[in-house]
Formats: sequence, structure tokens, C-alpha cells
Amino acid sequence: MCLEGIGEDAKTCMKCDLRAGRHNTVPGEGPCDAEVMLVGEAPGAEEDLSGRPFVGRAGKVLDRALAQAGLDRSKIFITSVIKCRPPGNRKPKTVEILECLPLLQAQIDAIKPKAIGLMGNVAAKAILGVEGVTCLHGQVFQNRYVVTYHPAAILRRRELQEDLVSDLRNIKELALSCK
Ligand code: URA
Repeated sequence: MCLEGIGEDAKTCMKCDLRAGRHNTVPGEGPCDAEVMLVGEAPGAEEDLSGRPFVGRAGKVLDRALAQAGLDRSKIFITSVIKCRPPGNRKPKTVEILECLPLLQAQIDAIKPKAIGLMGNVAAKAILGVEGVTCLHGQVFQNRYVVTYHPAAILRRRELQEDLVSDLRNIKELALSCK
């Protein structure tokens, strides 16, 4: 399926209770031929209002880290496991993740990115079935995925910024090495 079709499917999705509270779905944004994809957890308040991923406080952290790693945000496809905001920014429920995952899988299949950054435990668990970002960050899985911190974690622990930047550099190298 094409990216627009996936976005439409997200917009009209009625599969879980998150549909009730959403202002907008946040399917993600970026070029359809992006070599790098970044996957977060779920939209927050500002993303829900704008329909765009990572435009709130965590987005500012991500923008800074991308710049430090020498990555151009406009060339990356940025999305999250969950496409609708959980109330009060609570953790997504397993059932919500399972209902939403086919959209992310369809995005990966459509874009075929060379390197995919899984930001945080929710993304790492949903795609790879692994948890424990503190130990796993920076590691490459299946020659395609790199686990890293969710940018919101840096808001709580500023010292993790360097790790996020170095993991993003690994993601960039991985994409370049697949040319
Ligand atoms: N956190 C996420 O995981 N995704 C967003 O789009 C914003 C914050």
C-alpha cells in the first residue's frame, strides 16, 4: 500500500478506544523513499493538535540530537508505534499496540528504509520483542534496526543526550553502509 493510503487508513481507524479522544491521527511524516526511519512511542498533546510527529518538547530534543548527529530531519521518515494520543500521555496498552502495528509495518514495507531507529522500549518491544534500552541502545539488530532512547527520556535525564546522538550517528552509518 502507498504512504497516502496508510495515512488514510490511520485517519479513519476505529479499531481501538483511542479514536474517541483524538483531534488528529499522527501517521508520521517524511519522504516516501527515506533511507532512515525513526519510530517513537505515541503522539503527545501537541502532536495530537497538529497531526505532526515530534513537534512538542520531545521533538525539540530530537531536532537538536539530529542536528548534532548530522542528520537532516526533512530526509527522515518520523513516526510512532501508536498513531493516536493516549489520554494523559499514558503508556499505550498492549491491545492498542497490536491494533496499530499493521500501520507501522505497512509504512516500513512501503518506504523500505535502510536503517530504522527504535526510540524507546515501546518501539523496541513492538518491532523486535526486546526491552531494556539502557543495555541495548546503539546495538544493530537484523542489520537494519538500532535501538535508542526515546527523546522524552532526555528531558528527565539530560546526560543521555550524548548517547542519543551517538546512536543516531550509528543509524546514519548503517544507512550509508547499505548503499
Ligand atoms: N513522542 C512520540 O513517541 N511520538 C511523537 O510523535 C511525539 C512524542
